[in-house]
Amino acid sequence: SAGKKVAVVTGSNKGIGFAIVKELCQKFDGDVYLTSRDEGRGGAAVEELGKLGFHPQYHQLDIDDEASALRFRDHLQSKYGGLDVLVNNAAIAFKNAAPEPFSQQATETLKTNFFSTLRFCNIMFPILRPHARVVNVSSSAGHLLKISGENSVAIDLRKKLSSSELTTKELTEMIEGFVKAAQTGDHLKFGWPNSAYATSKIGISALTRIQQRAFDNDSRPDIIVNSVHPGYVDTDMTSHKGPLTIEQGAVAPTWLALLPPNVDGPKGGYVWYDKQIVDW
Ligand code: NDP
Repeated sequence: SAGKKVAVVTGSNKGIGFAIVKELCQKFDGDVYLTSRDEGRGGAAVEELGKLGFHPQYHQLDIDDEASALRFRDHLQSKYGGLDVLVNNAAIAFKNAAPEPFSQQATETLKTNFFSTLRFCNIMFPILRPHARVVNVSSSAGHLLKISGENSVAIDLRKKLSSSELTTKELTEMIEGFVKAAQTGDHLKFGWPNSAYATSKIGISALTRIQQRAFDNDSRPDIIVNSVHPGYVDTDMTSHKGPLTIEQGAVAPTWLALLPPNVDGPKGGYVWYDKQIVDW
C-alpha cells in the first residue's frame, strides 16, 4: 500500500469517532483506520460498518499505553510510509454524579485527554506527510472563557494560555500545575475551572495553536491542525442527552480532516460544529 493515503481516528469504536470513520469511509481517498483500546469492541464496530457497506481497516490503540501507540505508528510507517489524516477523538469524562474524588478525576481525565493525546501527537507527527490534516476534538468546555473572572489570577492565566509565545513545555507545566493543585482542592485559587474535563479541553485547544505554529516554523509543508467542538451529541459520554446524532457530530471534524491542499484556513483554529471559526 505504499503511496496509498491513510486516515486514523482514535477512540472510534463508538460515538462521534465511529461516525467520523463512517463518513471518512465515504469521502476519503485512501484507507481509514477504526481504532479502539479494546479489540472486542473494535471488532464489533468494524462488523457493524461492514453491514452498512463500509470497510475500514482496524488496529488496536490505547492512547494511555505508549507501547500500543508505538506499535500502531510502526505499522503505519511500514504499511503506508506515512500518515495523512489524524483525528484525535479519544477522551474520557466523569459523570456529574461520579463518586470518585475530584483529585482522582483530575488525574485520570488530564492523563487521557491531555497528556496521552499530546504523547500520541508527538509519536505520530514525525510521520505526517505534506498536506496532512490533524483534528483535535475539543469541546465548548475547552473555550478559554471557561476560565472566568476578572481577578488578576484569572486574567493572567488566560493571558498565558492564549499567548502566541506559549510553548508545549510551559503548557504541560501549567496542566501539571492544575493536577497538582486539584489534589488539595486548590485549583480554583490558581484560576482554573472547577472541572477536570474543561481544563483538559482548554489544554487541547491551547495545544492546537502551539502545534500549528510549530508546523509553520518548521516549514512542514501545508500541514494543518485545528481543534473542534463537535456539538452536543447523543453518546455514552453525554448519557445520551445531546440533541445531535453522532453523524451530525462528525460533520465538522470530518470537514476539517478533509480540508483540501493549500487552503487558507481554518488553521490552528477553534472551530464550532457549524464550521464557524470561533475566537478562542
Ligand atoms: P464516547 O464516550 O461515546 O466515546 C469515546 C471514545 O474514546 C470511545 O471509543 C472510548 O473507548 C475511547 N477512549 C477513551 N479512552 C481511550 C484511550 N485511552 N485510548 C483509546 N480510546 C479511548 O464519547 P463521544 O463520542 O461523545 O466523544 C468523542 C469526543 O468528542 C471526545 O473527545 C469528547 O470529549 C468530545 N466531545 C463530545 C461531546 C458530546 O456532546 N458527545 C461534546 C464536546 C466534545 P471505550 O469504548 O473503550 O471506552
